[in-house]
Amino acid sequence: MILNLTAGANCQLCRDGHLSLLFQGNIESTELVRFSQYAVYGDIYRCNVCGFVVEEKSHETDAIIESLTSENYGGDKIDQLSLEEKSKAYAPLARIIECHRAISGAQLLDVGANTGIFLNLARTLGAIPFGLEPSLDATKVARSQFDLEIQNGVIAEIDQPDAAFDIVTLWDVVEHLYDPVGDLTALRSKLKPGGHIFISTHDIENVFCRILGKRNPLLMYAHFYHFSPHTLSRALEIAGFETVGFSYFHKSWSIRYLLALFDEFWPGSCVARCARGLTITISPVEPLSKLRIRFPLNLFFVAIARRPA
Ligand SMILES: [Zn+2]
Repeated sequence: MILNLTAGANCQLCRDGHLSLLFQGNIESTELVRFSQYAVYGDIYRCNVCGFVVEEKSHETDAIIESLTSENYGGDKIDQLSLEEKSKAYAPLARIIECHRAISGAQLLDVGANTGIFLNLARTLGAIPFGLEPSLDATKVARSQFDLEIQNGVIAEIDQPDAAFDIVTLWDVVEHLYDPVGDLTALRSKLKPGGHIFISTHDIENVFCRILGKRNPLLMYAHFYHFSPHTLSRALEIAGFETVGFSYFHKSWSIRYLLALFDEFWPGSCVARCARGLTITISPVEPLSKLRIRFPLNLFFVAIARRPA
């Protein structure tokens, strides 16, 4: 589904809103799009009424699924570091779930389960885990490393009966969906009546995003939609959920990981070379390289919603 947007088009979330150009895209050729290159994106529009932020999509849905399917999570340094970082990142999310309902004994579906790190944690907390993951490579890691039950596929392909789950989680996934309202509607039917959905994403209305504007690294081609608590709750309500609330949480990263990111942001640059030198210098000093920097602003939030009983 290619999404050609123009200024003045109707908003997908509200009846009265129209889109206006927020940031001109900086992709030079759709042939060369790196789906997850930071701060490289297509034209981005914002609804003048509800504030929904949408990116133009230049690829067919099949091409996007193909890209997700072939994404690799093996070997190189940044991926190994990403795995370590993720395992630290999920503990606050599990605590947010437990503020609303017990994880123990729950049938839990994690959408975009990646290599299964969160599902493994959920299982240690007593959940009966099931995962859905488009990347073939990540699915294999989740099965072999954690012995998890994971389906390789996207939401439209989910092969589970209706009303099978007590909890559905989407961690940093909703911004990647090419049809978020359609996908959330499909997930609602997989929840038992009264079951909960937990969705984490970045808040595009946050002061960090406002200050960085078009240089915001969270603007990337793979992020087709940028939500705020207001627009995400609207999408959830259109999909048939009752919004329960929102919880902001702080992400933290090790210095080692942050330094490695310079190569991702500015490959081959002087800054990236300096960061690499610094990494080599601090590596022998374990407490320093493991020190974690906490992002001070409320950039990330979890939306909590329920399938009506
Ligand atoms: Zn709108």
